Amino acid sequence: MFPPDSDLSLLSEPHNRRAWLRRFALPALALASIPRAEAFEWQVVQEDGRDYVKLEDIKTFYKFPRLLREGRNAWLRSNTMIIKFSTSAEDIFINNVKFCLSFPTSEKNGSVLVSRVDLAKLLDPIIRPTYIENAQGFDTVVIDAGHGGHDSGAVGSYGAEKAYTLDTALRLEKKLKELGYKTLLTRRSDVFLTLGERVAIANRTPRSIFVSVHYNSYSSSSAIGLETFALAPQGTATTYDALKSSDMANRRGNARDSENIALATAVHANTLYKLRSVDRGVKRARYSVISGIEKPGILVEGGFVSSPSEGARIHRPDFRQSLAESIAGGIGNFRRALMKRSSVPQRSAP
Ligand SMILES: [Zn+2]
Repeated sequence: MFPPDSDLSLLSEPHNRRAWLRRFALPALALASIPRAEAFEWQVVQEDGRDYVKLEDIKTFYKFPRLLREGRNAWLRSNTMIIKFSTSAEDIFINNVKFCLSFPTSEKNGSVLVSRVDLAKLLDPIIRPTYIENAQGFDTVVIDAGHGGHDSGAVGSYGAEKAYTLDTALRLEKKLKELGYKTLLTRRSDVFLTLGERVAIANRTPRSIFVSVHYNSYSSSSAIGLETFALAPQGTATTYDALKSSDMANRRGNARDSENIALATAVHANTLYKLRSVDRGVKRARYSVISGIEKPGILVEGGFVSSPSEGARIHRPDFRQSLAESIAGGIGNFRRALMKRSSVPQRSAP
């Protein structure tokens, strides 16, 4: 049960963002929302040919003490989590961290509706990672430095993505080893690897997760911020794209949907908190490295080399060190959340 509800000001005070991020990063979150023991009947609403559920049902199922509405916005609130929804929106905010939905929210008869896919593939693994079915323990992190060799990746005024990713990967390796993990780098020097070779390394490494490190670029130099990608669930579009027929295929990585989004959340939230980057969100993609792996995996875009300000920041070794340490911290939070599983009775996801 939740302690008494007391501090509504947290909903609107941005200076509390750090406190919320810190709490969000804590593994205690995993135990925050144990669902009811009695049977629960979800009321499914059809909109645009898809299944949706009402926020009122989500509130009841996960025992959020409060559901607040104000205009287009709605908030589910507990003592550890605030989820902000807006009607007809593609994004939600969990403890002020942005998540891109697979389908926009909707509204019917005064209730905000969330797609069943987003409930099962986004909200459930984040609200209660302890309930992720068949989650596998890991002791090894496969670190993939994006690009290399003739493939420079994005090139900014200060340097090339391939050099920054390799340096970040080596720093991440060092940090993870200090924390007791085994590590494997897909490349340790300025060489070219195909995406398939990177996937193969991940798939033959037992008890592992996969983290691909990249830096971004965009035609507008004003684009900045951190974005973290998890594989798009089967039958959903990649973030901000239209649905297409190839989205219907089941990819190997979809077997790990729940772990993928939980890992993305842990790394993204911890990195935002530590680096205070602009939050571009936890997004969905079908990049081959995260489509083809059989292990939980994510792709982190640590910032924009195309931005004069962020490019300068990325060029600084201390920034890349902080990024590496915050990714490592996020991995630790993910592992601790999963390890709580054994102490919680299991129940299937909605
Ligand atoms: Zn890249």
